[in-house]
Amino acid sequence: MTIPYGRQDISEADIDAVVNVLRSDFLTQGPVVPAFESAVAAHCGAAYAIAVNSATSALHIACLALGVGAGDLVWTTPITFVASANCARYCGAEVDFVDIDAVTYNLSVDRLEEKLIRAEAAGRLPKVVIPVHLCGQPCDMQGIHALSKKYGFRIIEDASHAIGGRYKEEPIGNCRYSDITVFSFHPVKIITTGEGGMAVTNHRQLAIHMARLRSHGITRDPAEMTHAPDGPWYYQQIELGFNYRMTDIQAALGLSQMQRLNEFVAKRHELARTYDELLKDRPVTTPLQHEDGYSGLHLYVIRLKLDAIHATHREVFERLRVSGIGVNLHYIPVYRQPYFEQQGFDPADFPEAEKYYAEAITLPMFPALTHAQQVEVVQRLTTPIGHQTLF
Ligand SMILES: *Cc1c(COP(=O)(O)O)cnc(C)c1O
Repeated sequence: MTIPYGRQDISEADIDAVVNVLRSDFLTQGPVVPAFESAVAAHCGAAYAIAVNSATSALHIACLALGVGAGDLVWTTPITFVASANCARYCGAEVDFVDIDAVTYNLSVDRLEEKLIRAEAAGRLPKVVIPVHLCGQPCDMQGIHALSKKYGFRIIEDASHAIGGRYKEEPIGNCRYSDITVFSFHPVKIITTGEGGMAVTNHRQLAIHMARLRSHGITRDPAEMTHAPDGPWYYQQIELGFNYRMTDIQAALGLSQMQRLNEFVAKRHELARTYDELLKDRPVTTPLQHEDGYSGLHLYVIRLKLDAIHATHREVFERLRVSGIGVNLHYIPVYRQPYFEQQGFDPADFPEAEKYYAEAITLPMFPALTHAQQVEVVQRLTTPIGHQTLF
């Protein structure tokens, strides 16, 4: 039996909540989506929440709401899922990357500042910067926010890994240092709706705009219409939108999962402490638990100290996979993807991301992971089947 790197945790209460929707009048656009939105907004301390069918969709409508379009620049970190960059391309904007911090693996505020100084001189400042709370570890949002004021860019936090986490004692998603924060509810993430995502914000106009983009660009608000309604049936499409709606079936699962959010994250911290202990004195770097934050701990990423290990990164990875340990690598630097490579990125511009990519391995991390499985993961990491001790 393979131990996956992540998996959902579904309770009988979750199943009952979904079944209740199936027996109800509305499978979609009923009362459960707004209830789920309210629960997430309340948890985060954000004023508005817009549920959608994925975090990818949330990132797309967040960019559009902030006015991203052809000719604009959007910057993000290269160590993220491709969706953090693709959202800008959907809007016709160009993407560029800011190298990561050597310790947190998040977008480096120092590199960001250097790049902004050069961009200002060249007259090519970004419209939006998308920091990603990698593995759930909060980015230096105060630093990024201060630079946004100086250089005039907007901020979307990609918090796909970070619901339930905290930054400076406050919940991630309160948007104190950003315009919009986005969450993912894919089954490997911290809570799930099967597929799903959400954008939260404190700006009423951004919320209204994102809600309209979620559903074809249609409004039923006479105040937004070009003329008075023709009749009670009337609605207007006032811009080009999409069908990015979440169903009530999905929202019911999400709303039920929200009740265990704090428990899930606490469990992840307990698992991380166990890994930290089991990996102590081994030639690996375990994840930093930053004093400024409480990580959502979506992922537990170790870095191999290759000088002290009698194997390559790839060998360690392959041997774990052969042993039934579903390790993974989060992430291949996005500029290395052929689609982005064509745009002329040079890996040499991102030395920390390159180093990270050469050393990182994601170990299994999900609420139902047992102590025995964690011991097995670490044992297989250090001593693969039929091989001498690696380290
Ligand atoms: C999972 C993920 C996404 C995309 O989420 P979906 O809900 O699958 O669209 C975006 N950004 C990051 C960092 C992710 O991990």
